[in-house]
Amino acid sequence: MLVSVIIPVYNEQENLAPLFDQLTSVLNGDTTSTYEVIFVDDCSNDNSFSILQELSRKESRFPVRVIRLARNSGSHLAVLAGIRYCRGDAALDMAADLQCPLEAIPALAAKHREGFPIVWGKRVKRQDPLLTVLFSKIYYRLLKMLVKQDFPFADIETCLFDRKIINHLKNMQEKNTNILLLISSLGFKQGFITIERRERRAGRSGWTLGRRFKLMLDSLLAFSYLPIRFISVLGILISLAGFIFAGIQVYQKLAGTQIPQGWTLLVVLILVLSGIQLLMLGVLGEYLWRAVDQVSTRPFLVIDRLIGFDDRTDKSEVTDDQQKELP
Ligand code: UDP
Ligand code: MG
Repeated sequence: MLVSVIIPVYNEQENLAPLFDQLTSVLNGDTTSTYEVIFVDDCSNDNSFSILQELSRKESRFPVRVIRLARNSGSHLAVLAGIRYCRGDAALDMAADLQCPLEAIPALAAKHREGFPIVWGKRVKRQDPLLTVLFSKIYYRLLKMLVKQDFPFADIETCLFDRKIINHLKNMQEKNTNILLLISSLGFKQGFITIERRERRAGRSGWTLGRRFKLMLDSLLAFSYLPIRFISVLGILISLAGFIFAGIQVYQKLAGTQIPQGWTLLVVLILVLSGIQLLMLGVLGEYLWRAVDQVSTRPFLVIDRLIGFDDRTDKSEVTDDQQKELP
């Protein structure tokens, strides 16, 4: 079985050499599968790309291929680029910063052989900044609540998926998405292994708080209609409250009670209601923006260079510049 190891890389120059050494020993040590390694350089602005070029020229028992994206697109899209070009019977994603022990790779492959088309690597331990851990906890809690009650596990570090799934993902045209959720939404039998996540070896996490927030929003909006349903329910409740309020006023009037002028109430109501309306418009706008963005024909994944895909590169996707890299 050929397994494609897809590694998104963004400014990881210090990590690449040790990563490659460890990859060599782990992958060569596994006799049950063969491997290809696809590094997807997410438009790093350090030396990562030239280091990757060198690595691709090195003698190794597994082919090393490199894709360079034309702009920084985030690790989910980077993995998707790897998926489009991988040729394995199964593929898995692996971070370049060595936070996930590479021994997970043969472990994932072994679990796959037990008959699971999808195998999740679940974090049971992690050493990360407190804020990251907190954010991740809230994120998964919300996912479970709003999107998928049966989303397999709280803390996914990596995932292996077989050719059937790769073919589905290849044709996917969804831009703002969380690839793990997408995989889990396809169905299939899913297994898992556990992973003890280590500290980042060097460099900084490319996942800023802003990016994590965007991923959270993407996941919730792309996979859940609950925010829209929430709007409708809230709208119904508010109008109901309005009717009840009017009813009470009428009743009081009939009963002869003096109704106060109620300016304060009026102003408060106007403010609160218009505030809610604005908020709701915002949520609707969010969906609309996504719809517009989705139907636009601008490419969301732009590939700059392909290295090491010589024998089977889809020429239609290769520009003159990339052609130079092909022998
Ligand atoms: N990454 C990427 N593009 C980005 C940010 C990160 O390809 O814009 C890569 C990064 O090089 C690493 C993986 O995605 O291999 C996981 O990223 P990171 O370690 O920054 O995330 P964290 O472990 O903090 O969740
Ligand atoms: Mg990391």
